[in-house]
Amino acid sequence: FACRGAACYRLPGPRGPLCVFRNQLPRRNDTYPEEPPPEEPPPDTTAVLPHRLRGGAALCRVCGCLGPRVCGRCHRAAYCGPEHQVLDWRRGHRRSCGQHAAGGDSADAIPEHNEFLFPEYEILIEPEEPESPSDSSVDPDDEQGAVDTPKGLKEQEELRATGSAGKACQSLDEETLEAMAKHETEEDKVFQMFKERVAAEPEQIIRYCRGGEGPIWVSGENTPEEKHIPNCSCGAKRIFEFQIMPQLLNHLQVDSLGESIDWGTLVVYTCAENCGDGNEYLEEFIWKQDFSAGSS
Ligand SMILES: [Zn+2]
Ligand SMILES: [Zn+2]
Ligand SMILES: [Zn+2]
Ligand SMILES: [Zn+2]
Repeated sequence: FACRGAACYRLPGPRGPLCVFRNQLPRRNDTYPEEPPPEEPPPDTTAVLPHRLRGGAALCRVCGCLGPRVCGRCHRAAYCGPEHQVLDWRRGHRRSCGQHAAGGDSADAIPEHNEFLFPEYEILIEPEEPESPSDSSVDPDDEQGAVDTPKGLKEQEELRATGSAGKACQSLDEETLEAMAKHETEEDKVFQMFKERVAAEPEQIIRYCRGGEGPIWVSGENTPEEKHIPNCSCGAKRIFEFQIMPQLLNHLQVDSLGESIDWGTLVVYTCAENCGDGNEYLEEFIWKQDFSAGSS
């Protein structure tokens, strides 16, 4: 769950206006079919958003969560609870209620321009190709070396620029400058690594590897240490499960003329023990990392 208010993303603290819940369903459950959906694409996804999961469960018109409660008048509009039913009634269902009862899907479809729901997409999951062996053995004469050279020069130039500015105002000693330059260089390296990993599959929106090698960070700043990641309420450690990439922002239709919600990456840590009996939502831990001010 994410707030749509851009200002909330500038609030201090690593979690941002975001929270994440885990619902660990057994294979046989009331919500999703036991078998994976068919391979062929769904008929026409551009028409109306589905108000039901393919397994048949109704979804709340407001928030898209399970909606076991239906409007008492039209028996078509579904809601997660009384709060969203009242909200939708005030926002216009009182006028549209029952109007399309004769047929058609539009009455119980999730309304367009819903200010709560993000658009829905199917996520295609593919394994990441392992890095080709040529990447690891860098010959100083090959392309890699050629790319490095101008970058090195640029860093030196930046160093010189910072140095002269420091001398002019007499406020920064050499040690501070060195530290600043070193920090910037390290920032560059982290961001560079991020860009190189993403370049292999630029459209990626999620990287999933539960308990695996961990996330790729967009910055060397504000990365959590182990002590920053709280244990699950059951007492077990939380481990890395997946990260959400900044590319997802392009699909959420959140850009407005003013400003937009923003993140560098969102990293989700979940209970290593998969606790819970499968019928509840358990809150897990999310860490928001922003791009460092210098990267672009
Ligand atoms: Zn907010
Ligand atoms: Zn709802
Ligand atoms: Zn109704
Ligand atoms: Zn747990």
